[in-house]
Amino acid sequence: MTALSPVPAYPWPQGKASAFCFSVDVDAHAPWLWANRADMPRLLGHHEQRSFGPRIGMPRIAALLAAHGIKGSFFVPAIVAETHPWMLPALVDAGHEVGLHGYFHELVAQVSDDQFTHFLEGAIGLFQAQTGQTPRGFRSPAWEMTPHMLAECRRLDLYDSSLMGLETPHSVNGVTQIPVSWSTDDAIFFKFLGGGGDMGPPLGTDAVYRAWTEELQASRRYGTLMMLTVHDWISGKAVRAQMLDKLLGHVTASPDIWIATAGELAAHHRAHAPERDALTASLPESPLEHPAWKDA
Ligand SMILES: [Zn+2]
Repeated sequence: MTALSPVPAYPWPQGKASAFCFSVDVDAHAPWLWANRADMPRLLGHHEQRSFGPRIGMPRIAALLAAHGIKGSFFVPAIVAETHPWMLPALVDAGHEVGLHGYFHELVAQVSDDQFTHFLEGAIGLFQAQTGQTPRGFRSPAWEMTPHMLAECRRLDLYDSSLMGLETPHSVNGVTQIPVSWSTDDAIFFKFLGGGGDMGPPLGTDAVYRAWTEELQASRRYGTLMMLTVHDWISGKAVRAQMLDKLLGHVTASPDIWIATAGELAAHHRAHAPERDALTASLPESPLEHPAWKDA
């Protein structure tokens, strides 16, 4: 086989053409806490904006999923679960998957390997105490990973859903990977915090609805996973929930799409395609070490 041979179709269950996963990164106030940890501000605005998520966004998103008969994967920072102790038990009761998303939504580049492990183990302990279950999945805050984090996921038998090296389930360094995608993440289109730090105004829902229905069509055509990722405080807003309702109508009207949680996708991959796309993630050497540089 050459590198330009057609890619064999991913073996989705029951002959399905593609897969769709509805995931929620329940960030709430956690990224604000992490960013301000050394110097907590007096200002209420961002904290209130993010607190909308647990107050209104979560019940609204949960009602939407219930109406469409879809189980979601909710990745919750431990500090959010600690602040809102009803959240994990309520999600589990409703049949959703709950997964790890850091303790304080700590950013990978800002913690040591030891701190990462400490926070991860602490978060697992909190999930166990609140739900009686051990979470099976991890999603990294801001979707970055290190070799140490992958090794820890492997040690703790967690799948990861943070990388985007392929568009179908695979494994990286022995860890089952359920890939994400920036183009199906609500934050890049809608996140707007004010105060001058934003890239531009939030997009209207028409443009995003068009983009995501196109993603859905392309996913069916190429047999990929469409991993939709929304945030409680962003897509829980009325007009965005209304758009999601329309989008989910499309998903459920297509019988050839496998609608699954990230945990179900990981279990399927391990059971039916464990040898497929077993990747080793490694980084190339610096250009400064390259012979072409030395000769320059
Ligand atoms: Zn997050």
